Amino acid sequence: MKLPNDIVVPFYIDEAQVRGRLVRLGSELNQILVNHSYPPIINRYLAELVTIGVALSTDTKQEGLFTLQITGGQIIKMMVVDVTSEGEVRACAKWNEESLNILLEGTNNSPSLRELFANAFLVFTIDLVNKDDRYQAVVELTGSTLSECMHHFFRQSDQVPTGLVVGTQTDAISEDYLAASIILQKLPPSSDFSEEKIEKEIDDWFTDLSLLGTVTKQELLDKNLAPNTLLYQLFHERNIRVLPSREIVSKCYCSRQRIEEILSNFSESDLTDMIIDGKISVTCEFCNETQIFNKTEIDEIVQFGK
Ligand SMILES: [Zn+2]
Repeated sequence: MKLPNDIVVPFYIDEAQVRGRLVRLGSELNQILVNHSYPPIINRYLAELVTIGVALSTDTKQEGLFTLQITGGQIIKMMVVDVTSEGEVRACAKWNEESLNILLEGTNNSPSLRELFANAFLVFTIDLVNKDDRYQAVVELTGSTLSECMHHFFRQSDQVPTGLVVGTQTDAISEDYLAASIILQKLPPSSDFSEEKIEKEIDDWFTDLSLLGTVTKQELLDKNLAPNTLLYQLFHERNIRVLPSREIVSKCYCSRQRIEEILSNFSESDLTDMIIDGKISVTCEFCNETQIFNKTEIDEIVQFGK
């Protein structure tokens, strides 16, 4: 199947102080998944997490890094998506192979989210370039779908009121993923608003949420339905203002220099322990790229770290 462009479309419903974003992901999402060759059950949840991560993270013009992760689970131990303010996305997952196989066998290949992610937490982190303190919210992963878990997360953390829909599907032949999401966020009312106006805004917010709830998975993932058309269809009774779309790309920001910096923090004896066949090789968990350092380069790193 021909995959759509990978984009995020920001929009506003000004009268209700609501902002939103529509995300459609195709080839770039598949690029992330192909790089890893994870089992289908991991791909399914990772595709959804990437889509939610992009929807959640692309709301600021400030430069920084946004990380959404599920961590601490017994079977799927970690699933993480990083999104930069430039729209560059990378993601990876770690799991216990033996436990996952037992669970898949025991559940006829359809384990529930609760079984896969038992005891896990959802963590959302914002690291802005021009701010010293990072924002982080950690909430127990609770729900039977990732979207339910996210709504629980929004209620428990100090996020602005948020509503979200997400859908993914795979092509029966190519097994390519298609994913989409729409997120709505209620901004705080202006301080000079009257009580009446604030009440009206809250009513409007619930109207917007119920309109969002009417979108079908088919509409969300329909490649022939332009994002703007879908948004106008959904919110036609509201005064919606759609902004130009931004591109999302699969890209890892690891570099040889970054790895050298990390290595320079290790002691000389730790670095010596890492040497195999006269060299240290470091593979990035996100993009699988391997950097190799020979003896001379390791000596330079040791000197730099001193
Ligand atoms: Zn990388």
